[in-house]
Parts: sequence; C-alpha cells; structure tokens
Amino acid sequence: MDFLAVQAEAGDVQLHADSVLSMCLIITVTAPADEQERLQSAAQKIAAIGLRVQTTHQPRWRWGRAVPVRAVISDEVGCACGFLDDDADWDAATWAMQSNAAERLAQAIEIVAADGPSEFSLEALWVGDNG
Ligand SMILES: [Zn+2]
Repeated sequence: MDFLAVQAEAGDVQLHADSVLSMCLIITVTAPADEQERLQSAAQKIAAIGLRVQTTHQPRWRWGRAVPVRAVISDEVGCACGFLDDDADWDAATWAMQSNAAERLAQAIEIVAADGPSEFSLEALWVGDNG
C-alpha cells in the first residue's frame, strides 16, 4: 500500500519520521457522515485518557453523497506504533502490544462503542514502504 495515498485519505496522519521502522501502524475509525458529531464527542473523551484522535476534515458532500467521516486513534506521535511492543512483527497474525498501551487503546475503543457513532468500523493498517 502506498503511504502517500493513505496519508491523503486519512487526513492529518503524520509520519513517524525518526523511527527505525519503515512502516507505520495506523488505527482508523470510520463512521457515516451524519455521525460526525458523535465521533467528535467520543474523540474528546478519548483525549481525556491521554490518546490523540484526529478526525479528518473532509468535504461534506462528494458527488452528491455524504462522505464517511474518519478518525485516527494514536499516541502523541500521530500513529499507533507507540502502542506496540519493541519486538512486534507486522508479518505476524497478531501484534504484541505494550500492556498499558493496549489497555488505553481498549478503553478508547470502548468509548467509541459507548458514546460514539451508532455504527462504525475499526481498521488497523500497516502503511509504508515494505521494501
Ligand atoms: Zn508510526
């Protein structure tokens, strides 16, 4: 997957520039356009537990249809790499996480489920240069 394409799609996602990893883990919540307010209120609650949620600024309408709203859940760096244990391997089926980070991330997902959009999808993607 081409990182620039994903970066454009996900809005304000920043590269983990000083990392030795050549790939970045991005966790994205996608919800219908009319759920934007609920997603933003969940984002504020997630910020209160010390994580960052960047919602995308997208055109409200594109080709006559509402555009789904996306939010990226990250640490202060702007991606989710900091949640991972140092020996996490992106070829593995599951990724080792630092236990306190995993707990905060689980809390964040609970907040989205409880207070956020009535309907959403959650994606975790490795993006970047695999070569
Ligand atoms: Zn990263």
